[in-house]
Amino acid sequence: MTNQTDFHMTPDQFRYWGKKIVDWIADYHERVEQFPVLSTVKPGQIRAALPAHPPEHGEDFGQILQDVERVVLPGITHWQSPNFFAFFPANVSGPAILGELLSAGLGVQGMLWATSPACTELETHVLDWVVEMLELPDKFKSTGPGGGVIQDSASSAALCALLAARERISGFKCTRAGLTGGLVAYASSQAHSSIEKAVGIAGLGRDNLRIIDVDDKYAMRPEALADAIRRDKASGLTPCFVCATVGTTSSNAIDPLPEVGRICRDANLWLHVDGAMAGTAAVCPEYRWIHAGLEFADSYCFNPHKWMFTNFDCDCFFVADRTTLIRALTIMPEYLRNPASLSGAVTDYRDWQVPLGRRFRALKLWFVIRHYGVDGLRHHVRNHIQWASEFAQWVRSDPDFELVVPPPLNLVCFRHRAGDEFNQRLLQAINETGRVYLTHTRLSDRYTLRFCVGQTHTQRHHVERAWHLIRETASALHMNA
Ligand SMILES: *Cc1c(COP(=O)(O)O)cnc(C)c1O
Repeated sequence: MTNQTDFHMTPDQFRYWGKKIVDWIADYHERVEQFPVLSTVKPGQIRAALPAHPPEHGEDFGQILQDVERVVLPGITHWQSPNFFAFFPANVSGPAILGELLSAGLGVQGMLWATSPACTELETHVLDWVVEMLELPDKFKSTGPGGGVIQDSASSAALCALLAARERISGFKCTRAGLTGGLVAYASSQAHSSIEKAVGIAGLGRDNLRIIDVDDKYAMRPEALADAIRRDKASGLTPCFVCATVGTTSSNAIDPLPEVGRICRDANLWLHVDGAMAGTAAVCPEYRWIHAGLEFADSYCFNPHKWMFTNFDCDCFFVADRTTLIRALTIMPEYLRNPASLSGAVTDYRDWQVPLGRRFRALKLWFVIRHYGVDGLRHHVRNHIQWASEFAQWVRSDPDFELVVPPPLNLVCFRHRAGDEFNQRLLQAINETGRVYLTHTRLSDRYTLRFCVGQTHTQRHHVERAWHLIRETASALHMNA
C-alpha cells in the first residue's frame, strides 16, 4: 500500500491504519489482564529481536503493527493493568488518549501565544479550572498575579520553582552574573529525588540541600527546619528555598504546610509544595485538608498523569507570582519577536519552562475533565481511597503482617513480620506470579512493601485478589523455609 510517488502515507491509508490502531488500543485494554503485569523479558531480548540495520525501503504498515505485537508487547510492563499496584500509577483513560492523538494530529508547537493561541489560552483556562476543582488558593489563578502552566513532570516544576527562587533572592543576578554561592535549599529526608537533582542543576550544589528530619509519620519536622535555617544564617549562608511534600513517594506522608509555611514566610524563603501524586485527592472536599497551609506557598504542583486519568506527561504547576518565574526564564531572540508578545497582552509559555518548545498538552486534560466531570473524578478517587483503606484493614487484622503507617490516602505501606530478607523474597515471589505488580521502599531502614491503588480500571475485586495472593505467597514461602 506504499505510495510509490512520494513515500508518504496517504490520507486514506492513515484513516485505515488509524482506525486499526484505535481498535488495537481498545482490545489491548480489554485483554491487558492476560499478560504478566511486570514484563519478563531479559536484558537485551527486545533488541535481539530487531533487525540490525534500518530498512532501505519502506515497509508495509501491517507488518510494522505485527512487530508491535510480536516484539514490543512482551517487553511491556503493563501500567494500564488493573493489577498494577507498583510505584505510583501512570493512569490513562479514553478521553486522555484521544486528546493525545488530537494533539499529535494538530502537531502544534505552542512555544508562543502566536504559534497557536488556542494552545496557550486553553491551557491557561483549564489550569484556572483546576484551581477551582481542587479549591487551591485563588492566588494561583491567572486572573491575579499568579497562574498555572503544564510542565512535562513534577521534576521540571521543582526545577523551575527553584530557578525562580534563586533569582528572587539574588535580585535576578544569578542567571546574568552566575551563582556566587551560599544559597541553601531544604527538603525532608522523604522528599522526591528530583529536588536533589534540581539543586544540582540550578548550581546551588547538592551539598547545599539540607535534609530535614521527619516525625514518626515521615512528615517534615518544622522545628528541625527552623533550626537548620537558623544555623545556616548564622554561618553567613543564604537560605532560599524549601520543598514541602504533600504525599511523599515512599509513604504518602504529608508535611505540615501551615508550620513550614510560616517559617518560610518569616525567613523570606520560597516555598514549593510538591503534591505530585496526592494532589488529585483534593477534588473531593473531604480530602482538601491535605492542602491546609497551601496559602503560604509560592508554587505548587501535582501530576494529573499519576492519578487523574491523564496520559503522561502532564504536571500542573502553579505560581503565586508569575512575574518572578517569567523574569527568571525569559529570553527574546530576534526570530521569536512578534507583535502579540511585544504588546504584553498575551502569555508566552516558553517563559514558564526550561525548553522552548511545548506540546498541546491541555487538550487531554480538558477532555478528561469534560468527559468525567468533577463528579466522575471524585467517584474514582473515593473508590481508590476506600479500597486502600480496606486493604490496610486486612493487613492490620492479619497476625503475620503489620501496617507501617496508617495510610492517609491510596498508598498502603506494610510488611510481613518475618523480617527484611523475607519481605524481599516475598515481593519477588509475588511479582513473579505475573498476576500483580508491587514495589518496595525503605522506611526507618526497614524493607517495606508498597501497595498503591490508583489504576484507572482497578476494581475492588482486584484489590481483594491481590491481598489473597500476597497472603498465599507468604504462606508458601514460609512452608518452604
Ligand atoms: C512521582 C513524584 C515526583 C516525580 O514525578 P515526575 O512527574 O515523574 O517528575 C515528584 N514528587 C513526588 C512526591 C512524586 O511522587
